Amino acid sequence: MTVAFSESEERQELRKAVAKLASKYGRDWFTEKARAGEKTTELWLEIGKNGYLGINIPEEYGGGGGGIGDIAAVCEELSAQGCPLLLMVVSPAICGTIISRYGTEDQKQRWLPGICDGTSTMAFAITEPDAGTNTHNITTTARKDGDEWVLNGRKIYISGVDEADNVLVVARAEDSKTGKVKPVLFVVPTDAAGLEAKAIPMEIVSPELQFTVFLDDVRLPAEALVGDEDGGLVQLFAGLNPERIMAASFSTGLARYALDRATAYAKERTVFKDAIGAHQAIAHPLAQSHIEIEMARLMTQKAAALYDAGDDMGAGEAANMAKYAAAEAACDAADRAVQTHGGNGITQEYGMAGLLVATRAGRIAPVSREMILNFVAMHSLGLPKSY
Ligand SMILES: Cc1cc2nc3c(=O)[nH]c(=O)nc-3n(C[C@H](O)[C@H](O)[C@H](O)COP(=O)(O)OP(=O)(O)OC[C@H]3O[C@@H](n4cnc5c(N)ncnc54)[C@H](O)[C@@H]3O)c2cc1C
Repeated sequence: MTVAFSESEERQELRKAVAKLASKYGRDWFTEKARAGEKTTELWLEIGKNGYLGINIPEEYGGGGGGIGDIAAVCEELSAQGCPLLLMVVSPAICGTIISRYGTEDQKQRWLPGICDGTSTMAFAITEPDAGTNTHNITTTARKDGDEWVLNGRKIYISGVDEADNVLVVARAEDSKTGKVKPVLFVVPTDAAGLEAKAIPMEIVSPELQFTVFLDDVRLPAEALVGDEDGGLVQLFAGLNPERIMAASFSTGLARYALDRATAYAKERTVFKDAIGAHQAIAHPLAQSHIEIEMARLMTQKAAALYDAGDDMGAGEAANMAKYAAAEAACDAADRAVQTHGGNGITQEYGMAGLLVATRAGRIAPVSREMILNFVAMHSLGLPKSY
């Protein structure tokens, strides 16, 4: 029976199908790929072939015609099987949404089918070393030169540039009418002359890497511009709710994976009379995690439902709260999973300690917990802006 608070049967079936597909790969496979410096392309292409990667993108461009709730479910189930794919947040959800909503017909036909089937992944670059969280201060500049645009600047922590054919780059350009600078978006091929990407050594055990991207007089044709060149923030904001909902799903999936592993271990491992799970000191934190994960999942589903119903404002508050709750739940679940495993929690064999960093990243990216608290303090509680 489906009651109002459950996801549709179709969505539940989608979750089962994705979980089954991802379980063929599993955590060990994922970790081995990461440690060997290899990629998870087989899994990426398989979810693409099955229609899961572009499930949120309109059917006429190779997608499934579903919503953000569908792609968030796919992202969560992959994570819950120990195969979190960060580029799902970026390629189909952020880039796919922005291009679907603001691209020209030619741009949609050119880029969306490859995003959907996984053969042409798109990275997303907004963060800069000096601007950081304050994205209004980005200095990557787009200058018009005849029919072309010329891009100069530097981006940091850009995920998956080595796996992407293109990067959707946020730059600043001068508004031709007002002279004010405002954000503009460009699709930049990763092999463009003047684009250089350098991997940043990170402590996350993942095949997906982060890069510093140097843009040095990168020349782009007029068709590389996505949205109105005087369009300001609208097209950028279109990507924010999907980004937060997906980041929440990524975290709740990882949290579920950590909790499943910890629970199984707590049932097996016996050092005194009973299995360690019989001690409330072990059982209660795991029960707490179960509650926190379920609350974060509910909020994520609410945010997705509001977004898919076209309520962007309502979805904004819910998406921020979901992302916050999910990252907190995931960090705590990973920590408790390590503790439950004792010394085994720190070994590579059990793979729990790696989850500490993976979940911890969710408190920082794509938007930090502090900026979410700022948002809620201001917009939900009406408190003064503090920065
Ligand atoms: C694994 C990973 C993948 C990433 N992938 C991408 C990607 O694909 N594309 C991309 O563009 N970026 C990406 N990022 C970058 C990410 O979005 C930024 O790291 C994040 O936005 C924070 O910016 P920052 O690192 O410059 O921190 P800073 O802005 O330097 O912030 C440092 C600390 O200060 C706090 N702080 C700053 N201002 C305030 C304030 N007003 N009030 C309270 N606290 C404040 C922050 O919350 C944070 O805790 C990724 C980052 C990571 C870790």
